[in-house]
Amino acid sequence: MILPHDPPTGDDAALDLDLIRKYAIPGPRYTSYPPANKFHDRLVDLDLTGAIAADNADPSRPLSLYFHLPFCQSRCWYCGCTTIITRRQDWATTYLAELKKEIALVAAQLDLNRPVEQLHFGGGTPTFFSAELLEDLGQVLRRTFRFAPEAECSIEIDPRVVSPEQVQVLAAMGINRASLGIQDTNTDVQQAIHRRQSAELNQRAVDLLRAAGIQDINLDLIYGLPLQTEATVAQTVQEVLALAPDRLSVFSYAHVPWIKPAQRIFDQRGQMPEPEQKLAMFGVIRRGLRDAGFVDIGLDHFARPDDPLAIARREGTLHRNFQGYSTRAGASLYGFGISSISSSPDAYWQNPKSLAAYRQALAEGRLPTEKGYRLSAEDKCRRRLIMGIMCDRRLDFEALGREWGCDLTQRYRAELASLAPLVAEELVQWDDSGLTVTPRGEPLLRVVAMAFDQTLARTGRAHALTV
Ligand code: SF4
Repeated sequence: MILPHDPPTGDDAALDLDLIRKYAIPGPRYTSYPPANKFHDRLVDLDLTGAIAADNADPSRPLSLYFHLPFCQSRCWYCGCTTIITRRQDWATTYLAELKKEIALVAAQLDLNRPVEQLHFGGGTPTFFSAELLEDLGQVLRRTFRFAPEAECSIEIDPRVVSPEQVQVLAAMGINRASLGIQDTNTDVQQAIHRRQSAELNQRAVDLLRAAGIQDINLDLIYGLPLQTEATVAQTVQEVLALAPDRLSVFSYAHVPWIKPAQRIFDQRGQMPEPEQKLAMFGVIRRGLRDAGFVDIGLDHFARPDDPLAIARREGTLHRNFQGYSTRAGASLYGFGISSISSSPDAYWQNPKSLAAYRQALAEGRLPTEKGYRLSAEDKCRRRLIMGIMCDRRLDFEALGREWGCDLTQRYRAELASLAPLVAEELVQWDDSGLTVTPRGEPLLRVVAMAFDQTLARTGRAHALTV
């Protein structure tokens, strides 16, 4: 599939693998600032009730809802998500009852007249839940919240585990975007990662969704998996383009066997690609998608030029949240279910990853918050700077200086000085008026953003490499 190209822009620069090799270091993905590994368990300091009350102060501030549905029928060995492997359907029934309790507890504190502009079901495998359970959840949500007519409602779909009945229910619930986990189409790679998924299954899932009216399709790929090569990922790109996706997420495999023991098998079998090969794979995928007309949104996101994400990228209205890049600005996020994260202008808070702890809190009639973070005024300023780099590749020092009543080049003198090696390589430019990440520097957005991260402990292990 070849899409019409954007007018040529600077971001058509080829990927410079030497530069990436030189500067890519472990760093956060900046779906939040501070990153989630800085959240703490001092809930008194968090003052969640106060944070939600302050969030309600602006009744026009939209809501974004996230539901973590954690169950999967079998484990993919590369998986880094918070999952519970089971085939017991009654676990989903019990979990839904718990989600309803949590919804009621949150609803008691929230201004329910605020419009819901985004809804996302993630996992796990959301379609582990039967059509009946999904319908039940959808009805509770429609009864509880006020959805904006143009709300973006999305779900993660495992093409191996989705039925026509579920798709019909999802469409009736208002789901209008689906993300399909594909990862890689090569059968040897699929066998190595314990995830067999034929091209027919992928095509069937896309056909089911589009026939039901769920037109917007994201596909998720992963590079750096065992047995992958430049040739296999090139083939994967060509095969998934035949599914006519609107967006693709191309994730770097995070090898963290000390956190996810199932990943140890890849080392035992000696199947992991070398870092050099992994970088080359990213180059191959990026080239394949750009040759097919997809726009590089940033980090790991690609979109058709007529997709709202690509339009937002062109118009400078891109945003970033826990789901990655987004077109929706200024929404407060309320997460439900184990491990889910919420955010308001003043705070982040997160539920426990353990089902037992989640269940215990709800049985006691309290919100299952386990940790969080209350942002200082300085944190908020740095969040603006980091998100400006991640989304717009540009900071307007003059405009921010007028707003904040200071000279940014003085206030962040040390941070800007630390960018000197990147300036010398023409990856970033700055003067009194602002900072710009050049097209050459775009693959290293996170490295530029890290200069303004006050929380960064450069330990190296907690984060993925910055490509
Ligand atoms: S289906 Fe998704 S969430 Fe479940 S184990 Fe596989 S990768 Fe992880």
